[in-house]
Amino acid sequence: MQERTLSIIKPDATTRNITGKINAMIEDAGLKIIGQKRLRLSKEQAEEFYIEHKDKVFYADLVDFMISAPVVVQVLEGEDAISRYRKVMGATNPAVAEEGTIRKTFALSIDKNSVHGSDSVESAAREVSFFFSNVEIFA
Ligand code: ADP
Ligand code: MG
Repeated sequence: MQERTLSIIKPDATTRNITGKINAMIEDAGLKIIGQKRLRLSKEQAEEFYIEHKDKVFYADLVDFMISAPVVVQVLEGEDAISRYRKVMGATNPAVAEEGTIRKTFALSIDKNSVHGSDSVESAAREVSFFFSNVEIFA
């Protein structure tokens, strides 16, 4: 099924100037980048975006990390885009991520793990509309 998912290239990757290398892995996996912008998250935006994790011990550090430098937010489209991108990303902890995944290739640690991807149809819808209006997405 054709789906859309939200991707974020995180601060550890924008600061290392590897957004193009990550985009190449996304495109090589058959996903099309149909919306993209570079921005700096406010604390309020980061807290709201990651609200599902508000009770986790890592929540405050996660918010601080996500606002520490610019991010690139993207809408990806393709066949089973949500699960396909999760597979291209690899496991949250790069130490156990599969070879050839973005996180295995580029992530520095479980927190500085280079990319975010939506984890369900519901979160993809919420997360795409969190950052993009319809006039910013062109398939
Ligand atoms: P994913 O990004 O793979 O969907 P989660 O939704 O569980 O992972 O967590 C969101 C983000 O919070 C992770 O990508 C990572 O940056 C951070 N995170 C998750 N677990 C930990 C942890 N145990 N310690 C520090 N940071 C974490
Ligand atoms: Mg998640």
